[in-house]
Amino acid sequence: MRLKNIPGSREKIAESEYVIKEPVPGRWREVFVNDAPVRIEIGMGKGAFIMELARQNPSVNYVGIEKFSSVLFRAIQKQETEDLPNLRFLRMDAEEICSVFAPGEVDRIYLNFSDPWPKERHAKRRLTSKTFLSRYSLILKEKGEIEFKTDNKDLFGFSVEEAREAGWEILTETWDLHGSEYAAGNVMTEYEEKFSAMGIPICKYIIKKA
Ligand code: SAM
Repeated sequence: MRLKNIPGSREKIAESEYVIKEPVPGRWREVFVNDAPVRIEIGMGKGAFIMELARQNPSVNYVGIEKFSSVLFRAIQKQETEDLPNLRFLRMDAEEICSVFAPGEVDRIYLNFSDPWPKERHAKRRLTSKTFLSRYSLILKEKGEIEFKTDNKDLFGFSVEEAREAGWEILTETWDLHGSEYAAGNVMTEYEEKFSAMGIPICKYIIKKA
């Protein structure tokens, strides 16, 4: 998702108490002032999914990560109206994820409708590639899990294969989430709302760190 530049979005991010500007690995407890588990969404877009999780689960902490200021700006606006104490944001590229979380500090990772990067030469940029899985493996707790949803079958097939080859255990794999037994309790993302309204099946996996 890339929204056209919103004037003032960088300033808004710089001033916002909801955006952590200089995150220190191993110090997320101090940010939330509690010992609750920390779950993250990488590429959260405008934040509808992670905000709903934060509403439903007040005893879990959530960090929404987004690369683009103009997109994060929208999430901050929503959080300003709700002020959820268990939700904070980071504006960063996921490539740097190991510099903001300590080994084992993350309880669960959500990846929703990640950019497909269809060209083979860009495969390493896909957020479900082995390159990224090895980064996630470092920050996730022992037996931590990743949940991934997409409408893109090519990306999903690639992602399942990468997870297998990297030795992750596949706990759930469905190529039609909404028509499956795993639909109960599903929280929809903005992209998911759009694609499922068009009748496009949604794929989902849950994988566990070996
Ligand atoms: N997750 C949302 C949803 O399902 O509605 C948004 C999906 S959108 C297709 C992908 C989002 O991931 C965009 O907002 C994009 O800016 C962000 N993104 C892509 N690559 C990223 C990266 N390397 N680090 C952080 N965010 C990234």
